[in-house]
Amino acid sequence: MSLEPETLKSLVRAAAEQVIASAPELTALDQAIGDGDHGANMKRGFEAVLGKLDSISTQPLDEAFKTIGKTLVMTVGGASGPLYGSFFLAVGDALRSKRLPDDLADIFGSGVGAVSARGRSQAGEKTMLDVLFPVLETLKAEASHLDLIKRVRATASEAVARTVPMQATKGRASFLGARSVGHIDPGARSSCVLLHAVCDTLQAQQ
Ligand code: ADP
Ligand code: MG
Repeated sequence: MSLEPETLKSLVRAAAEQVIASAPELTALDQAIGDGDHGANMKRGFEAVLGKLDSISTQPLDEAFKTIGKTLVMTVGGASGPLYGSFFLAVGDALRSKRLPDDLADIFGSGVGAVSARGRSQAGEKTMLDVLFPVLETLKAEASHLDLIKRVRATASEAVARTVPMQATKGRASFLGARSVGHIDPGARSSCVLLHAVCDTLQAQQ
């Protein structure tokens, strides 16, 4: 799979537009167990990405990811800005030596590893990693499966739901202790929105 500029453009546009559209939902989720800024943070970051869409989509894939990463680091803010930024920067790095589609799981894994290192966080702490790690497992297990897109989509939704009974041990929600139980993690939901946008766009192009 070589990513044509038009394909890259439609993927980035869909991801950005879906996150921007979900800002009110992300705000509400972060109001429940954080400080209520996750929707505004993500909207600001992905509006900046949309503003660079023309140049991003003509860059080689590794550089396109790096531009997205740097833009998110500079504009999102909060805890999630540096974390999402690290994800895209590490994926950009991985794309310099690895190839799609064969190395998809490895490439995605580099991004997930960077979030985990930056956040000093693991699975089960009620964060975006509780979506990213399960999706990585699906990519590893089902790399050649014909229904991979559907499976990634379903994995992400199920993983968001599994954050509800978790108690947060990282990020602002951890300050609530046991009171963080019973809510969806905002960052898990925004990761799901991004992944669903990519899945839906790829599926529409099949
Ligand atoms: P802030 O918490 O600074 O207000 P945001 O509201 O934008 O930043 O982002 C909150 C989200 O960031 C959380 O819902 C969680 O998914 C994610 N997050 C916070 N801390 C960490 C961490 N250490 N590791 C992974 N993800 C984290
Ligand atoms: Mg917040």
